[in-house]
Amino acid sequence: MVDAQNSVLTSRLRGFGSTIFAEMTALATEKGAINLGQGFPDYDGPRVVLDAAVDAIRSGQNQYPPGPGIADLRSAISEHQRRFHGLSYQPDGEVLVTAGATEALAGALLGILEAGDEVVLLEPMYDSYQACIALAGAVTRPVTLRPPSYRLDVDALKAAIGPRTRMILLNTPHNPTGAVLGIDELRAVAELAIEHDLIVVSDEVYEHLVYDDARHVSIASLPGMRERTLVISSGGKTFNTTGWKVGWICGPANLVAAARAAKQFLTYVSSGPFQPAIAVGLRLPDSYFIELAADLSRKRDRLLSGLRAAGFEAYTPSGTYFITVDIRSMRPDGDGYAFCRELPDRCGVVGIPNVVFYDRTHEHEGRHLVRFAFCKREEVIDEAVARLMKVAS
Ligand code: PMP
Ligand code: GLN
Repeated sequence: MVDAQNSVLTSRLRGFGSTIFAEMTALATEKGAINLGQGFPDYDGPRVVLDAAVDAIRSGQNQYPPGPGIADLRSAISEHQRRFHGLSYQPDGEVLVTAGATEALAGALLGILEAGDEVVLLEPMYDSYQACIALAGAVTRPVTLRPPSYRLDVDALKAAIGPRTRMILLNTPHNPTGAVLGIDELRAVAELAIEHDLIVVSDEVYEHLVYDDARHVSIASLPGMRERTLVISSGGKTFNTTGWKVGWICGPANLVAAARAAKQFLTYVSSGPFQPAIAVGLRLPDSYFIELAADLSRKRDRLLSGLRAAGFEAYTPSGTYFITVDIRSMRPDGDGYAFCRELPDRCGVVGIPNVVFYDRTHEHEGRHLVRFAFCKREEVIDEAVARLMKVAS
């Protein structure tokens, strides 16, 4: 990895360093610590989905898939959008398969933005957003969500929109906070997007990981929004296959074509034999998706009560597989990055310092916050909690 200070690195990427997920997972491996940092499950997805990938490999589906993705997967994505969100997309032209949601985001941002355009987005923000916006020569305008509720401040959103704003980049259910935007918040975003004629890119990779009374609504389903919205999702979280990197974009043909124009020069295509397997997953009965959320909600409760028992102030997430805690009870100086770097040695657990998800100028907002992932087996969650308890005492 090129050092961020290295003079050959493009100025657009200076200051981004290497991703926090690589850093913290390497630390977990080096120290043999329990990795509650990078969000990936320590268990497999549905057997039928895994078998479909094995079958695809054995039956010779090992060459380049078509540029937009295999037809069967595009149909399955379209059916899934209709079943869960009531949204209708033509598999030809309105659905594009990508190398995970990460490439979908890169394609959408690089394919649409002009240098100098402004992108309004929710902060804390997933790390690739800012890097891709910078690569496009565009400018990030963050709107901060604050604990404990992490609700959207609509006035702050209004204030962030200016004459150069081109796009609103949404993420709901939201990483790292676990907030799920409610219908009133979505309506407010939609109203502003229409009033200012903005494109919306909506990252919905955690669409099925929603708990309690929260409901995930795609902003594309609100009146006047389908034609200006690119919806992005991925099979990684829904089928416990984060390493397969099968993602997608749905939207009106002109927006999808712009994203595709950039995407074709990034990977061109990817994940050949995993594409038919994700199609099988997307066609699983409703019961699969219900049980996925029910199981994760039990894991959430388990880690949440453990973190609280260990003495953290922990904010209850309504979605995703992450819990954010305030570490100041354990480290009064509130340095979350230092806390995460020393935690493996102190007790053999890894978390992610939320400060990396904030704009440079807003680091004080997230300095004392740390994210732990709960997509882990129950015995692993229990062991992590037991270790954190020792630090507390
Ligand atoms: N968006 C968000 C909010 C994420 O948390 C992630 C991480 N998985 C991604 C996008 C990237 O998804 P993928 O692994 O499918 O590229
Ligand atoms: N989305 C995952 C997370 O937030 C990790 C993705 C990655 O490693 N880039 O933990």
